[in-house]
Amino acid sequence: MSVIGIDFGNESCYIAVAKAGGIETIANDYSLRGTPSCVAFSTKNRILGVAAKNQMVTNMKNTVFGFKRLLGRKFSDPHVQKEIKHFPFKVEQKPDGSIGIRVNYLGEDNVFSPEQITAMLFTKLKDIAATALQTQINDCVISVPSYFTNSERNALLNAAAIAGLNVLRLMNETTATALTYGIYKQDLPAPEEKPKNVVFVDFGHSSLQVAACAFNKGKLRVLATANDAQCGGRDIDAALAEYFCQDFTTRFKLDPRKNQRAYQRLLQEVEKLKKQMSANSTRLPLNIECFMEERDVSGDMQRTQMEQLCTDTFTRVERTLRAILHNAKLRPEDISSVEIVGGSTRIPAVKGLIEQVFGKHASTTLNQDEAVSRGCALQCAMLSPAVRVREFSVTDVQPYAVRLTWDAARGEDGDMEVFPAFHAAPFSKMLTFYRKEPFTVSAYYSDQVSVPDTFIDVQPTSEGESQKVKLKVRVNIHGIIAVASASLVEKKQDAAQHDNVEMENSNETANNSQEAPMETNGGSEHQNGPDNQEVREDEMKGEPEQKQSWTQRVGQWFTGENSDDKKDKSKDKSKKVLVKTIELPIDARTHGYSQQELNGYMEQEGKMQAQDRQEKERADARNALEEYVYELRGKLSEGECLHDFVAEDQRSKLVNQLDALEQWLYDEGEDQNRQVYSDKLTELRTEGEPIKQRRLEFELRPGALDDLALSV
Ligand code: ATP
Ligand code: MG
Repeated sequence: MSVIGIDFGNESCYIAVAKAGGIETIANDYSLRGTPSCVAFSTKNRILGVAAKNQMVTNMKNTVFGFKRLLGRKFSDPHVQKEIKHFPFKVEQKPDGSIGIRVNYLGEDNVFSPEQITAMLFTKLKDIAATALQTQINDCVISVPSYFTNSERNALLNAAAIAGLNVLRLMNETTATALTYGIYKQDLPAPEEKPKNVVFVDFGHSSLQVAACAFNKGKLRVLATANDAQCGGRDIDAALAEYFCQDFTTRFKLDPRKNQRAYQRLLQEVEKLKKQMSANSTRLPLNIECFMEERDVSGDMQRTQMEQLCTDTFTRVERTLRAILHNAKLRPEDISSVEIVGGSTRIPAVKGLIEQVFGKHASTTLNQDEAVSRGCALQCAMLSPAVRVREFSVTDVQPYAVRLTWDAARGEDGDMEVFPAFHAAPFSKMLTFYRKEPFTVSAYYSDQVSVPDTFIDVQPTSEGESQKVKLKVRVNIHGIIAVASASLVEKKQDAAQHDNVEMENSNETANNSQEAPMETNGGSEHQNGPDNQEVREDEMKGEPEQKQSWTQRVGQWFTGENSDDKKDKSKDKSKKVLVKTIELPIDARTHGYSQQELNGYMEQEGKMQAQDRQEKERADARNALEEYVYELRGKLSEGECLHDFVAEDQRSKLVNQLDALEQWLYDEGEDQNRQVYSDKLTELRTEGEPIKQRRLEFELRPGALDDLALSV
């Protein structure tokens, strides 16, 4: 069993594996460490990763990229509308308002969800890892931008499920980077000493993420994050492309904005130019042959010019860098180093801004491309029994304030902040309500325009009296917020005869208190009242997401208030006050797929994989035949090794046959099924192999060369 970490980037993915000897990055089928986040479709198969990116310009409409940013969103979402503006492939609204990506696959129109497309990429990554490690891959940790909300996280989990991956944790990208940094650091302060504060800056393809972390020996705590989800390396490419579009329109009367294919090529070229400019401040050329209307174009640019064109992006970078100081309540002098990762931190202007804001050089301790995937692999190893790694405690944060609303009784507020922004995660809080009737609560992010999908319908049973209902609101190991459970709480003076009372009997002593929305902490959201308990979850062991049950469970009598202590205290009969909790059915609606939908998508994915396999076998059989034709014909020609081991008339007949086969392969033989090729190969081998055999026997015979000399 292997434990792997996946950095799912908007532009490219990295896979790392945790082994006894350490963490390794896995190279793909093209011996590259990064795999493009790109999925393409043809009349015969799907094309995934490097191969997909390579054929992009010739298969624009069916090559899908940039889908990380579509996950968990509705088609009408303004972000989605902005994203799809420049996509050369078709994105549409499905009847339920979700996103559909329309491509031609196997000669037919197909509409796939962003989750499905992501799953396709994941199957490729899984395959790359399985091939490299020669083992099945199931358990993994996948990275996720720290600003991803519930619905985006749920969508990502759904995508992984479709690909047959078991996600032990969705890990925030900057937290993964921090773990990679911390675990091998020898000089961290002792637990009781003042922590070492480090800022991590990840400036990637589509977004900028910054995190401030406090390190002590054996542990890290994320203090705060600051993000700009709309600011990445691609915005620089877009600014440069816009400049050249205007330039080419003026000088060549060619406008790439009017031609998708030309525009995509221009984007690829300016990205190359941008990378060169990171290392070089002189004027650099840009040449594209046969660009539009079969004409070549050329231009040039200097680093300073690029910096002027991208002032907007750099202003946003500076703003986010300053925001981390504010969010983490740190001064620059409190920070011991600023570590950079992500491709776009290679830009000198970005390093300059870091120096300006924090008063110190950007530090490159980490591998800029691989730090995220390595952190994920480390985390996966910690969560899995398969590999032992050094103990290291990671406490993350939940970047948004979380509020809970409920049906307000008697003019009550019906609204409360459960977690402030940057509260530690994973985490649970117990909230107490007194209720007679079914009621509804929903959790949402305070600062988000869009209310995420944690909508919960809690229905306590009632016999006319208010009951004490405890809700467990939780940020789980994936950073997903949900009402994890609801339970009725009953107190009894003597419960000896009620051992193992069933749910149906649970209402016999209904609590008589007046109807109040909840016992909370009297206005201050930061201190906890007696009925607003905090429960730290063990972040390393990561208890799996509790499944909501629709069945009523058997209640248990025990002493004490905290249902989490159920087992320990149930045996303690010395205390007088006994408490019984009964789990209530809760109906948590999410944007994520139902199990039935998931099964459908998994089945569809399985069929596509089978199709890909079949096509690969077909192509391999065709290649094998083609190879044999070339090899045999070459060896039969004048002066080559097999020429003299077959009678001349038979030789020329065979060569004619080989010529015909070659012709056939490029003609009607282009598109046959596997069996046709392998039959032809078998037939051909019955002629070719005896000749090879004769030569072999001849060579093995002592004095063979002398014989040959005599016979000539
Ligand atoms: P994201 O983190 O946004 O989901 P990602 O992880 O795929 O995306 P990275 O691989 O970190 O992104 O970075 C890719 C970006 O870095 C691209 O925009 C690329 O052009 C840019 N980049 C890579 N090398 C350089 C360089 N030498 N100079 C400038 N930019 C670079
Ligand atoms: Mg990244």
